[in-house]
Amino acid sequence: MNEPTTPVPAHSRRRVLAVALAAAAQATFATAALAGCADSTTGTVSTSGAVDTGEAEGTRPPGTSFGSPVVANGNQALERLMAGNARFVAAQDQDLDEGIARRVAVSKGQHPFATILGCVDSRVPIELVFDQGLGDLVVVRSAGGALDQSVTGSIEFGIAELHTPLLVVLGHQRCGALDATMKALDAEQRTSHTKGLDYLVDTLAPAVRQVVGKPGDRLTNAVQANVALTLTKLRQSSVIGPMEKSGKLKLAAAYYELDTGRVVLL
Ligand SMILES: [Zn+2]
Repeated sequence: MNEPTTPVPAHSRRRVLAVALAAAAQATFATAALAGCADSTTGTVSTSGAVDTGEAEGTRPPGTSFGSPVVANGNQALERLMAGNARFVAAQDQDLDEGIARRVAVSKGQHPFATILGCVDSRVPIELVFDQGLGDLVVVRSAGGALDQSVTGSIEFGIAELHTPLLVVLGHQRCGALDATMKALDAEQRTSHTKGLDYLVDTLAPAVRQVVGKPGDRLTNAVQANVALTLTKLRQSSVIGPMEKSGKLKLAAAYYELDTGRVVLL
């Protein structure tokens, strides 16, 4: 019998292990913090030896980018994101900060400056369209940006534990998930016969229903309505709503144009 798996180079396996260990350390520490536990013994997971590149610390500290200062608030975070998208649109992407030095630096801690909820669409890779590198963004993706407990919890993690001052909900042009939901509702039936896909249709359906009879492109309207509805739901989170009200968190609605690469704030 043929071996079904493709051999993975040893250095790739080491990298995967290193990333997993670093992530585990971060998550464990964050979980302890979430529970109000100050006992460092519960959160201390050594990552020494997890990355052994022989490189020195990163060329810039986490949370800064290419000489830019750490963002102080949500407005500055949004400016930095949109500047990155402008570079992407103009095909003037900076060297994505994903070199060895940066990788080593963020393995010891992270200070991302924005949490972004986007779609799983292969044409909308979040870090690329905002021209950001390792450690810069907390990215949560689901088809159509549909919320469930895990998605919402992941967003709350980015905000409450990783302290990003900005949350962006990003819809996009010709979203297949919203399109499939429209078709399912038009046919007055779910098309998938799987619980998971039916959940998506049920979750995205309110946006489709909300735009019935509105002028303009129906799918574009549905995507943008879904972004707004998603933000409304997220504001009901006991983490997100109060932080927005206190001014510590900025929420933004955005729409990515496949045709141009541009992100438009809604
Ligand atoms: Zn989509």
